[in-house]
Amino acid sequence: MDEQMVLDQLIRMSLEIAKPELDAVILGEGNTSAKISDEAFFVKGSGKYLGRSAADTFVKVDLKGALAMLDGPDLTDNQIKDALFDLRADKTNPLKPSVETTFHGYLLSLPGINFVAHTHPTAVNMITCSVNGKEIVKSRIFPDEIVYCGIEPVWIDYVDPGLTLGRTIRQEVTKFQDKHGCNPKMIMMQNHGLIAIGKTAHECEAITAEAIKAARVLRGAMQFGGIKYFTEEQVNRIYTRPDEAYRQQQFK
Ligand SMILES: [Zn+2]
Repeated sequence: MDEQMVLDQLIRMSLEIAKPELDAVILGEGNTSAKISDEAFFVKGSGKYLGRSAADTFVKVDLKGALAMLDGPDLTDNQIKDALFDLRADKTNPLKPSVETTFHGYLLSLPGINFVAHTHPTAVNMITCSVNGKEIVKSRIFPDEIVYCGIEPVWIDYVDPGLTLGRTIRQEVTKFQDKHGCNPKMIMMQNHGLIAIGKTAHECEAITAEAIKAARVLRGAMQFGGIKYFTEEQVNRIYTRPDEAYRQQQFK
């Protein structure tokens, strides 16, 4: 895919996940990204509105440079700001790459991952901001949630946004890969929000929409006497059924 096509798909995905019915982002919340090559990716500029996404919402940045920040020393807030500006491919672009550029770079470096969508959905944050949040997402509750959002989410306890968050995500995603032998499809961050990780823009849209629906269903189920979770066997059965695998392929 050429650079313009990647940007066009990123814009379309960003507008899609910012639709009011999902209640996933308002104002300058959230950020999205797309891989151009092993050397570069687009990421949202700091403060830009996803709901008004256009070509000038995004900035092209150096992928290896973003990964080097995760491996490098701890930085002060000012040093991070300078380092983010340094990642720009075009130094005349006035946009500052999002403060979350490092986790986007890491996730886009995973095999088969080309798009990342990070949002703050109200329905999902009712869970991530609750005292029992991690426990509430201990298992899956309906088949489509498994098909689109994967076998389980990666849960991230609250840490400082930016470099610390990027490093923590890398550590927890690596644990997930060791356990399941594949990439996660979604990350839930305590007191923060959701990250959808996809091969395509459409996959990130589907993960985001389905994660929001599951969060709304969880909330309703609690009001009707409690949540009836799938057992581990039921989750594994759906995850490995050939007809479900076929459905998973349809949005790739
Ligand atoms: Zn955020």
